[in-house]
Amino acid sequence: MTENLIYGPVPSRRLGLSLGVDLVPYKVCSYDCVYCQIGRTSETTLERRPYVTAGTIIPQLADRLNKGAKPDYITLGGSGEPTLNSDIGRIIQKIKTITDIPVALLTNGSLLMNGNVRKDILDADVVLPSFDACDAEIFSQINRPNPGLTFEDTAAGLIDFRKEYNGLIWLEIFFVDGVNADEETVKRYLPWMETFKPDKIHLNTAVRPTAESGVSPLPEATLMRFAEILGEKAEVIASYSRQKAGSNSTDIRESLLNMLSRRPCTLDDMAAGLGLHPNEIIKHLDLLLAEKQVETSNVEGRIFYQRN
Ligand code: SF4
Repeated sequence: MTENLIYGPVPSRRLGLSLGVDLVPYKVCSYDCVYCQIGRTSETTLERRPYVTAGTIIPQLADRLNKGAKPDYITLGGSGEPTLNSDIGRIIQKIKTITDIPVALLTNGSLLMNGNVRKDILDADVVLPSFDACDAEIFSQINRPNPGLTFEDTAAGLIDFRKEYNGLIWLEIFFVDGVNADEETVKRYLPWMETFKPDKIHLNTAVRPTAESGVSPLPEATLMRFAEILGEKAEVIASYSRQKAGSNSTDIRESLLNMLSRRPCTLDDMAAGLGLHPNEIIKHLDLLLAEKQVETSNVEGRIFYQRN
């Protein structure tokens, strides 16, 4: 049986209602970020392969759209770095032939130094790259990249991409306490932002369980201060304001397991994602907890659910 590669729509702090498309399996990534929400990368890679092809993805996506899914974005991601999928160019082109819904790409940006990768993703409507470090030391501490990557090459790749790409770039900076989360360090990002010319700068912190246990969330006031330093394009990624999913799964239990296998979620995330009352979700979660299919973790008093 073919694996389901489409999930959601789920509420996203950055993209409204997002219909996710998995381009790489767990966990194919060029980084091993300390803050990763899906766990450690046992072995980083830079090798591009057709992990899943347009021929597999497009019928599944068309089916989901035909059944009434009405997301704000079709979001290319996966359990790792989606540009490692060498079929990504064809996948984006084919999506454009079946729908007008804009295509967003979540990427760590590490492969943008490769001209073929930049060309492959030119047709995406919005690209959301990470840029967590403003120097090589922070890069190695936060992103723990594949040994074949340098900070300088990664930054140069983003600059080249900005020159070639006409769509929107929403850059994300993830702040890690004790590494890049002080005002003097934040000021060192300013020259980079002038060069990258992102359309938005999204400031994030560890509000969900992370790969390394010592990564704690920064107070909102701290991120607000960083946003002031970074200027008018910068915004703290605020808590998601609830929207109803346009299409609900008929099988709540399977939808929950599907959602939680991608990332930890709060009860509110799940309720908003499935367009259901939290009381309805709780009934199913209680059962899944009793069956030990799901477990919880507590991050600063917020309860997150995840697959066991
Ligand atoms: S956060 Fe993204 S880039 Fe970093 S290790 Fe996880 S999947 Fe890879």
